[in-house]
Amino acid sequence: MSRAAVIEPVLLVHGGAGVRRQDIDAGSEDEIRGALAQALRQGHALLQAGHGALDAVTAAVVVLEDSPHFNAGRGAVFTHDGRNEMDAAVMDGATLRAGAVANLEHVRNPVLLARAVMEHSPHVMLAGAGAETFAREHGIALADPDYFRTELRWRQWQEALRREASGSNEDTPGGDRFGTVGAVALDVHGHLAAATSTGGMTGKRWNRIGDSAVIGAGTYADSHCAVSGTGWGEFYIRTAAAHAICMRVAHMRQSVHDAAERVIRGEIPELGGSGGAIALAADGTFAMPFNTAGMFRGRMGADGVPHVAIWKDEP
Ligand code: ASP
Repeated sequence: MSRAAVIEPVLLVHGGAGVRRQDIDAGSEDEIRGALAQALRQGHALLQAGHGALDAVTAAVVVLEDSPHFNAGRGAVFTHDGRNEMDAAVMDGATLRAGAVANLEHVRNPVLLARAVMEHSPHVMLAGAGAETFAREHGIALADPDYFRTELRWRQWQEALRREASGSNEDTPGGDRFGTVGAVALDVHGHLAAATSTGGMTGKRWNRIGDSAVIGAGTYADSHCAVSGTGWGEFYIRTAAAHAICMRVAHMRQSVHDAAERVIRGEIPELGGSGGAIALAADGTFAMPFNTAGMFRGRMGADGVPHVAIWKDEP
């Protein structure tokens, strides 16, 4: 008697690449691990209940946007002129539908607006004031700019300005190049989805838009693979990183591990970029490569336990 194969749902999340041990104290590390586990539990419960991958990645990213520890939603980094300007995207691998938003200053959960753009507009990408008008028209929760501000990010911005004035190009103590959040999921129907949300990079100017909101760069999903990236966004755009990983899986028959390694630990650092990604294939295999000291990351699958890691030497 033949039975349809049971698909075990899988959820991966990240909270940004680039963190170094000296950047976080033990208390923050515990809270970060707790938030990643909470995002995994929330998204995975939806997958277990039969919801689609898109619901799971959206729910997981909302948890991380709401945590002040990540560079997305509350806790977003500051622009050169002292504002929080956020980008986000979602993609549904089964239909190749996508939604993206950029340069938001008042949307509490940018990922929810990206999803609304995908589901309720004829467009893929909206930015700035127009995107926020669309948010108001669709009942997406707004927030005062003060809501996004955290003391840590404000100090990092001040430090970045000081370094700029002194002509220094060393890293900001406390790290300011990490914290973007993302999720990829495989649901019980075998469908994949990806979502990414970010405040971008500290000190960005001129309404710079990073890779997170660019479909194919920081966010991509199709029927073979789903990817969410984090790192120096310009390099992810130039290599079409998320799309490149999925093309390797679909057309070069590479494992998701080999495909993601090649792009994240090959192409991007060869150009001078840095960062990481989470990548999930339709058969449930996955990879979480990064070329930095650490990456906030986690996975939840068949054992129903959230597995969270930060450093290179953790499984
Ligand atoms: N990739 C994001 C950007 O460039 C930043 C990050 O992942 O930390 O906007």
